Amino acid sequence: MKLRRPKTVLTCPQCGSADLYYEAALITGYKYHCKKCNYIGAFVVEKDVEDAGR
Ligand SMILES: [Zn+2]
Repeated sequence: MKLRRPKTVLTCPQCGSADLYYEAALITGYKYHCKKCNYIGAFVVEKDVEDAGR
């Protein structure tokens, strides 16, 4: 059975990379950490990935 649900990937708002860590921060809760540009923050861009299996 196939579900036609679009996959999403989280990307960095600064450099567009999908290499993000999800980090727990003690006071502020959760944050993302970009491997490439070292962006740290709670805001990330969610992108649709249509043809993931190609
Ligand atoms: Zn980045």
